[in-house]
Amino acid sequence: MVSFESSDPVSFLIQFLAVIMAGSCVGSFATAIIDREKKGQSWIKDSTGSASRSACPHCHHVLGFWDLIPLLSWIALRGRCRYCATRLSPFYPLVEIACVALAVLTWVLLGWECSVLIILAGLGFWFSSLFLVFQGHRPSATLIISSFLCLLCLVFYVLFAFVS
Ligand SMILES: [Zn+2]
Repeated sequence: MVSFESSDPVSFLIQFLAVIMAGSCVGSFATAIIDREKKGQSWIKDSTGSASRSACPHCHHVLGFWDLIPLLSWIALRGRCRYCATRLSPFYPLVEIACVALAVLTWVLLGWECSVLIILAGLGFWFSSLFLVFQGHRPSATLIISSFLCLLCLVFYVLFAFVS
């Protein structure tokens, strides 16, 4: 649990901002996974075999660095694509906000420790898996294995912490 009274305000603020940034990046990653899984595409590699890059769902323009900053780029572009000006679904910022909230909750409950990093690493996979299942989609084997591996890491970490 994070101690709000005894912690140094500067390190508290740095931790808080780091958790918000990590949570929003995890949320952005989760939206990419959900988008591609729904279309039956790989979220690791594209059809040419190179690393899969995010693109506008309407004009398919590959998004640049400034288009991929979680929450901020959606706000700056007023929820529209920079290239075709099509209104984008609020699904993207909402998932990012949900992941920020889950990341902050994890940090508040567990404090600044290694298990929070493992949970943040798994959060994108777990969130997108559950989201797809609740929407009636079947997650791919890659997503299920990734979710399971992160869960396994967390279980081993907790078991190791109990033993030592
Ligand atoms: Zn577009």
